[in-house]
Amino acid sequence: MKRVNLAIIGGGLVGASLALALQAGAKARGWSILLIEPFAPGDDFQPSYDARSSALSFGTRQIYAQLGLWPAIEQRAEPILQIQVSDRGRLGATRLDAQDEGVPALGYVVENAWLGQCLWQGLDREVVSWRCPAEVKAMQPLAGGYRLQLDDDTSVECDLAILADGGRSGLRERLGIHVRSTQYEQSALIANITPGAAHRGQAFERFTEQGPMALLPLPDDRCALVWTRQGMDAQRLAQVDERTFLSELQQVFGYRLGALRQVGARHLYPLSLIEAQEQVRPNLVVLGNAAHSLHPIAGQGFNLSLRDVQALAEVLLAGPQVPGDLATLQAYRQHQQRDQALTIGFSDQVTRLFGSGQPVLTAGRNLGLLGLDLLPPAKSWFARQAMGLGTRADLRGLA
Ligand SMILES: Cc1cc2nc3c(=O)[nH]c(=O)nc-3n(C[C@H](O)[C@H](O)[C@H](O)COP(=O)(O)OP(=O)(O)OC[C@H]3O[C@@H](n4cnc5c(N)ncnc54)[C@H](O)[C@@H]3O)c2cc1C
Repeated sequence: MKRVNLAIIGGGLVGASLALALQAGAKARGWSILLIEPFAPGDDFQPSYDARSSALSFGTRQIYAQLGLWPAIEQRAEPILQIQVSDRGRLGATRLDAQDEGVPALGYVVENAWLGQCLWQGLDREVVSWRCPAEVKAMQPLAGGYRLQLDDDTSVECDLAILADGGRSGLRERLGIHVRSTQYEQSALIANITPGAAHRGQAFERFTEQGPMALLPLPDDRCALVWTRQGMDAQRLAQVDERTFLSELQQVFGYRLGALRQVGARHLYPLSLIEAQEQVRPNLVVLGNAAHSLHPIAGQGFNLSLRDVQALAEVLLAGPQVPGDLATLQAYRQHQQRDQALTIGFSDQVTRLFGSGQPVLTAGRNLGLLGLDLLPPAKSWFARQAMGLGTRADLRGLA
């Protein structure tokens, strides 16, 4: 039976990024990495590299730059030069500016399909072998590792299994790892939009009584829409004809980018907050959406997971020659615990605060937005959070 040092289950954004973060160090240590994924990038059904776009924080850019991958990603990444946060029908509004923050961009918007292509092309096949298309059907703990059963009736053994198979991980459930789950009773409708006016690098976060929306700048003067609505309403919006859809969107978004001209294919994602109650066991790490799946409105889910990836790679490569011992995995967990708690809390609070039409919360968020504009350090802190650059010192001072 084949045995590898590390088996990564799921070659989505997170699994593929971990393989990249590990590969140089793994080569030096003589480790073998196996990546197992049912869908190749470019496959219409690939769930990680689908029609979505991701807002990558400035911190994420730095991680990919360290891995030597940013020059490829950057070819089709649109810089966010300004973020406008506003509340429909109310006074509060705030603008975050890259120049004020002293960075070239507050973040970058990249289509997931492009990111997937860059990640897979960056893999060093001498260290990272892959089984694709292949799916892990079952996992069995062994002394000093795991045995994975694949859908082609073959098995693989590994010292360390990394479960990065997404938010609806069936394997996590079968391993008896419980989750804490909060249903937001909302869905995110995503689509690409062609506006009448150039976006000039502006991203818009707009909070409405029906739920928050984000319009992010894409290359070729298109925008990526993430529109959160109640479940039934989101379904209706996904099905109405193009004209009706654009007219409803225009009403909510206004004319900041002129008349909205065109909408591409619309897709729906039901939203919830899912947190795995265990992220490490001997010879096992749960990573990415399988570990924590967040509301997308604050654009934090993947950015957080990439910081997890970086920390895990560093801890493993500084650890024992045989990966998988619990003490090393716990050190990783401890390293990321605070970042995870703060980021998940930030996303959840933003969702609850801005997803509600209740008067008390409305007053609070107006003050919040006005307050942010009046109070530069708080604004800078918010911008740093959104960029994935928030430092521990900032958080102690202002959280
Ligand atoms: C609408 C929307 C917009 C978002 N926007 C942003 C954003 O702007 N910024 C941001 O930071 N985050 C964003 N996110 C979050 C981000 O998409 C996720 O954090 C990211 O997709 C998590 O990647 P993952 O690899 O953990 O999981 P997934 O993307 O779910 O990938 C899991 C992979 O595992 C594979 N797999 C599944 N089962 C098995 C198995 N049994 N064996 C082997 N492989 C398996 C799947 O085929 C898939 O490739 C958004 C999310 C949504 C829903």
